[in-house]
Amino acid sequence: MTLGNFLETMETAEFRVHPEAHIVVDGAICADCTTRECVVACPANLFVPTSAGGIVFNYEQCFECGTCYLVCTQAGAITWNYPAGGHGVVFHRT
Ligand code: SF4
Ligand code: SF4
Repeated sequence: MTLGNFLETMETAEFRVHPEAHIVVDGAICADCTTRECVVACPANLFVPTSAGGIVFNYEQCFECGTCYLVCTQAGAITWNYPAGGHGVVFHRT
């Protein structure tokens, strides 16, 4: 897939948001993390550092790529699951 095709596919994304987060981030662990790999790695920019040294995470527009879980170096910081059936991201590209 080319970058152009990738971006076109991302633009077709629809998010069928479940009321319960499928990814949970432990803010206490993140507070001690100095590397913050998730901030630069998440293609949807869902991890945002705060001025107080924490991390704000919103799951609603997640692409379910798994990158945050792979790059995070702190054990237990991210609990990752797919959304419950029928929820989550849907791509409409034909
Ligand atoms: S999710 Fe992982 S990489 Fe991101 S701030 Fe928390 S501990 Fe650090
Ligand atoms: S699974 Fe992908 S899109 Fe979702 S929060 Fe993690 S890195 Fe971001």
